[in-house]
Amino acid sequence: MSKFIFVTGGVCSSLGKGLAASSLGTLLESRGLEVRMIKIDPYLNVDAGTMNPYQHGEVYVTDDGAETDLDLGNYHRFTQSPLSQDNSITTGQVYQEVIKKEREGRYLGRTVQVIPHITDEIKRRVYQIGKEDGVDITITEVGGTVGDIESIPFLEAVRQIIHELGRENAISVHLTLIPEVSGGELKTKPTQHSVKNMQQTGLQPDVLLCRVPHTLEEGLRRKIALFTNVDPKAVISANDVDTTIYEIPIIYHEQNMDGIVLDKLELSATDPDLSGWERVVHTLKNAERTARVGIVGKYIELHDSYKSVYEALYHGAIANQAKLDLIKIDAESIDLDTGDNKHLFDEVDGILVPGGFGQRGIEGMIEAIRYGREHKIPTFGICLGMQTMIIEYARSVMGLAEANSTEFYPDGPHPVISLLEEQVDVQNFGGTMRLGHNTSSLEPGTRIHDIYNKKTISERHRHRFEVSNTYREAFLEAGLVISGQTPNGALVEAVEWPDHPWGIGVQYHPEFRSTPLIPHPLFQSFIEAVLNHETMREPAKAEI
Ligand code: GLN
Repeated sequence: MSKFIFVTGGVCSSLGKGLAASSLGTLLESRGLEVRMIKIDPYLNVDAGTMNPYQHGEVYVTDDGAETDLDLGNYHRFTQSPLSQDNSITTGQVYQEVIKKEREGRYLGRTVQVIPHITDEIKRRVYQIGKEDGVDITITEVGGTVGDIESIPFLEAVRQIIHELGRENAISVHLTLIPEVSGGELKTKPTQHSVKNMQQTGLQPDVLLCRVPHTLEEGLRRKIALFTNVDPKAVISANDVDTTIYEIPIIYHEQNMDGIVLDKLELSATDPDLSGWERVVHTLKNAERTARVGIVGKYIELHDSYKSVYEALYHGAIANQAKLDLIKIDAESIDLDTGDNKHLFDEVDGILVPGGFGQRGIEGMIEAIRYGREHKIPTFGICLGMQTMIIEYARSVMGLAEANSTEFYPDGPHPVISLLEEQVDVQNFGGTMRLGHNTSSLEPGTRIHDIYNKKTISERHRHRFEVSNTYREAFLEAGLVISGQTPNGALVEAVEWPDHPWGIGVQYHPEFRSTPLIPHPLFQSFIEAVLNHETMREPAKAEI
């Protein structure tokens, strides 16, 4: 059985618990330990699939098709932990399971209660991951903030686990905020209250991670330790990073967080090797070139909505020894009347249209795609982005002015993106989304085949609509390259523009698999094309 670390948060939300838990995972792995990650979300939704990206950020999809909280994306980027439905626990799932058992009569007439039945189900799920072969440490992040009504059963389950296993086998790490008030003074009171709150639920933090604008000085560290019953050396300063989140594991290591955690858990481990992470940080801080990429989307205001796409672009930049300048372009800000969007696209050397659902912003995305194709700017369409590439090609190159997806124009004359026939029948029953990993075959001789350098790939999907096979021949005749298909050839998975420096659309989500240490080949290749575009335009600038 593994040892357990529970990461909770206090004072307010959005302090970066996910990054804290992930960075701790990185550090422990860098010392040769096998780590598993779990996210607990105390909301009643069964999964994140139905949640609005504006409220909750992107939905991260695992290989097995689970639609999860975006923190699983952080775990993927920072650790090697396998991730599936089992690594994401919500109140909805826990209650659903307990109520199902109750209906089946499995509680033998007993009163079914939050304690012990809900807490037992939570513990069962956490222990199940910790029991996997060879796992040294399971890190469980409890979403929400200590003190929330929703978190109570989870904190109670954590208390029971620590009590059952002993504090040398299960510890609590609490992330808190040390705010700065006017005059620059740092205030510890909210942290004292937050820890009191934990103590009232029977939990004593073993490590305190303090979000501070700058490093905590010794006096303050001691004061916090005194009020909270935590060792002064286990009061860690989690100061804001200025360049990249990938520096967080290094900052923790500089304060010996890994050593402290291993001591508390009575574990011995090898010396840490963080060289890969140091290289990543060095590149993002010191690279001489910068790739400028415009993301044309509809959920632009909230950074978390396209989290994995943004991070994968950073990974592509790292692979090309470059920095990244992300230029977020609201699809609705694109001028459709005059089509004059030069001022927007002069700022960028690459255009990426990410995934999404619903009609809003679609025409702006199509216009951005047209601009990228006609002006030979590297253009990358992901999922909905690929679908808009198809619609644009049909309209501009094939002359089908009313081409559209049936998602937006159900009775249009040219439904180039549509539901498959068998899906139309089951529409009313829901569950028609293609989710999780699927294999695709790449066509030798195409750009995408060169990029992956293999014929069969496995990527994750999350979509309902497909390129209509009725129009396939017409697309091929008009010069569009269909470079990827499902192995039986039934569905289009990837397309490319002819006579264009880099125009690729994929029906799947490559961003979910990219990591800073192993950048996804498509993002690596896209950023290379973006940097080439910049080089090509330099002489033009010089002439002006
Ligand atoms: N809305 C489109 C579909 O359902 C695209 C989905 C996506 O981009 N994830 O097919």
